[in-house]
Amino acid sequence: MSDGALEPRELVRAARQAGLSVLAVTDHDTVEAIAESIEEGEALGVRVIPGIEISSFVPASDGVPERNLHVLGFFSRERVAGLLEWQLERRRARDKRLDDMLARLDEVGAPLRREDVLGSNPDPRRSIGRPHVARALVAKGYVKDQREAFDRYLAAGKPAYVDYPRPGAAEVCALIHRLQGIASVAHPGLDELDSSLELLKECGVDGIEVFHPDHPSETMQRFLARSRELSLLATGGSDFHGGKKNEGGALGGTFLPREHWERLEEALRASK
Ligand code: AMP
Repeated sequence: MSDGALEPRELVRAARQAGLSVLAVTDHDTVEAIAESIEEGEALGVRVIPGIEISSFVPASDGVPERNLHVLGFFSRERVAGLLEWQLERRRARDKRLDDMLARLDEVGAPLRREDVLGSNPDPRRSIGRPHVARALVAKGYVKDQREAFDRYLAAGKPAYVDYPRPGAAEVCALIHRLQGIASVAHPGLDELDSSLELLKECGVDGIEVFHPDHPSETMQRFLARSRELSLLATGGSDFHGGKKNEGGALGGTFLPREHWERLEEALRASK
């Protein structure tokens, strides 16, 4: 229900085909896909862990400026409803950002209409982000692929990049904890968050996403060691977005080793 290419049920079917028995569904800033994913998982014998990936920021500290941050939240299914209200406000903020991005693109000679991004019959539940705009830029022929769309227009500092209000790390962790969830720092290698991990622990994170397709083996080893030093859980996954180039890893290609899954499962059980 955010920037993945598959519908929720298709995703769970693909997971089953890939031989997965447990799968966390973590859309950006929305839990709209969770109910359908769980239903499909129950039909197919795949356990779906309700999750979310919340756009946030690490506050400026010790001369280091504010940084972008994604926080993964994992929940028991009874608690997901606690995010339904919250996600509406995030959707509105993203919708406003879309209009601002389109205005900027117009100014730099790459005009798009909302329909180009959202389609003619948009699903109002979707959480719209930069990847949707990137796909529209490719479809219109302004760029050859999504990478170029980010490099030329959408990445931070580029002409159509628009910042928008996001909750800080401590606020996001407090939200996740109010719902008895587990908060983990998403792909810290990709976002170069090595030096922010202690501060993030102070903000309340419970874990680090150690296992990720953009973490080469030495990066995983480094974050695994850091997770132990800081007494944080190790989480992980494929960041699968539908198997397209430049969009996450292969489904099940990167996974959470059993011993870490068992710790995460225990933490989820304990926090119910
Ligand atoms: P948003 O939440 O709308 O800011 O979009 C963030 C998503 O855009 C990330 O989760 C990535 O999937 C994607 N993304 C961010 N930077 C890039 C990039 N340089 N190239 C391709 N995709 C990117």
